[in-house]
Amino acid sequence: MIDRDRLVKTFCDLVKIDSPSGEEDAAAVDLMERLRTLGFSPVRDDYGNVIAGDGGPDPLLLSAHLDTVEPGRGIKPIVDADRIVSDGTTILGGDCKAGVAAILEALTSIREDGTAHRPVEVAFTREEEIGLVGARNLDFSKIAAKEAVVFDGEGPPSQITSASPTYIGFDIEITGRAAHAGVEPEKGLSAIEIAAAIITKLPQGRLDQESTFNIGTIEGGTVRNAVPESTTVRGEFRSRNLETLDSIRLQLSEAISSVREAFPEATIEDHLHTEFETYTLTDDDPATSLVTAALRSLGLEPSMRPSGGGTDGNIFRQRGISAVVVGMADHDMHTVRESVTIPDLVDAAHLCETLLRR
Ligand SMILES: [Zn+2]
Repeated sequence: MIDRDRLVKTFCDLVKIDSPSGEEDAAAVDLMERLRTLGFSPVRDDYGNVIAGDGGPDPLLLSAHLDTVEPGRGIKPIVDADRIVSDGTTILGGDCKAGVAAILEALTSIREDGTAHRPVEVAFTREEEIGLVGARNLDFSKIAAKEAVVFDGEGPPSQITSASPTYIGFDIEITGRAAHAGVEPEKGLSAIEIAAAIITKLPQGRLDQESTFNIGTIEGGTVRNAVPESTTVRGEFRSRNLETLDSIRLQLSEAISSVREAFPEATIEDHLHTEFETYTLTDDDPATSLVTAALRSLGLEPSMRPSGGGTDGNIFRQRGISAVVVGMADHDMHTVRESVTIPDLVDAAHLCETLLRR
């Protein structure tokens, strides 16, 4: 039986272990121990992701990520009636430890009750928050599942991520020419000015319902009194519409070309890379049918919502696994106001258990 108090305790214990992206070792060691207690023989793949399974045929993969964003060190969870919050100086880490806790509680409940269940695999990934890096490097030879449920969405578990965009990151490296800013600025060529010329030709923010564009960082110059020789601009754009992606890509390359013409002495290099690819769930998607049926059997009405973000689910789908992302009771992710709603967390554990019992 799903035990609310045990689930809340597991969650609080998990978030007390610091695991900012890239520093998930302590959390992984703790999780391996928990999985051993549940009768699994967990392994860490070459990238440090934690994988376990019971070896049965046609397993269902349950997944969540181990890393959290900053400020995420020394988290002190506070249980306040039906909510869990941080002390306001850090995030809570419900993204994604609420997912980890829900999966662990379901596995514990099933083991305790000794009921027959569908074979299961679990994958707990590293470095999701910095670009799905753990999932990208996951050892898929250790995964047999063709269906997966990823606990990494906002809101209650009945909230299913119905679509996710393609994400393209870009770097623009501009090299001008340094010169003393007061003595002979005429000899210089400002890389920052060139960066500005490019940026003003680009869109910003929300472009339409399914597309966004952002310049995230500009690094350039060395000192106040020198014409800056180099500047790097980093940004990203996303869309669920492939034609829109093409037109943004074109706009970016035209902006760079025209600025190249205007500043022929500068060197402007650009690199684009696709971080993850779009998907839209269909009604006949195997994992979607599983999740919606399980939710309804619990009296929860599934709600399908598109997301502007990506999750490990994007990578699983690219690897041919029908993956569905559901909510894990978390709200205001990536902020110090983050909270987990306990009844929703209990529902997430129930969902997980029901998926395995069916
Ligand atoms: Zn997450």
